[in-house]
Amino acid sequence: MGTSQNFVVDAGERPSLPVHGSDGRYPVRRIYCIGRNYVAHVREMGGDEKLDFPIVFQKPTDSIEQDGAVLDYPVMTSNYHYELELVVAMKSGGYNIPVDKALDHVYGYGVGLDMTRRSVDGQSDRPNQPWELGKAFDRSCPVGTIYPVSEVGHVDKGSIRMTVDGEVKQDADLGMMIWTTPEIIANLSRYFALEAGDIILTGTPSGVGAVTTGQVLVGAIDGLGSLTVTISEPAGQ
Ligand code: MN
Repeated sequence: MGTSQNFVVDAGERPSLPVHGSDGRYPVRRIYCIGRNYVAHVREMGGDEKLDFPIVFQKPTDSIEQDGAVLDYPVMTSNYHYELELVVAMKSGGYNIPVDKALDHVYGYGVGLDMTRRSVDGQSDRPNQPWELGKAFDRSCPVGTIYPVSEVGHVDKGSIRMTVDGEVKQDADLGMMIWTTPEIIANLSRYFALEAGDIILTGTPSGVGAVTTGQVLVGAIDGLGSLTVTISEPAGQ
């Protein structure tokens, strides 16, 4: 990705994702994440099931990892969790998008992992602090191939299934989401001007858990393929 700008330090490259059925790639601008969006997961975490607004946080854009990534076990945790989630990829946006127009702004869908340092995510040993340390760390957002709406339509039901070393850990249906994709987009757009390139991780079903070095994680959603990552030796060692 060339640039004519005269940057004084390395500007890096904008992360992007492969697109099914295309040689083109989907450029990632921001990563929004929704928390506690499946009742059974809310119960396993001990949270409030009747929030009047979704939990929202962001991950840094450069935390994107590709399908097939080998992820170093992260620093500063001994409780590293997977959370398998439906990813919504925007093609346009703006403020105050009505629920009934929200899907017009969706480019496609994919499979993502909200990797989490559970021991520092603000829900366990650091309550009442921002979630950055637990959620927004390096390499914390593997995402698979983006499937365009033109190919798969809008995705609001179907199996979402996570396996670790072949053992099923999460097995739910997208229809169990508390906040639907149009409701999530409408709510986010009250606070942020959404834009093309924004992706939204829509929350994880129950069955989250810890992984260790050497394990292979495979997440799959009906019609959206799968995403595989392998956990390697600890980072920074
Ligand atoms: Mn999550």
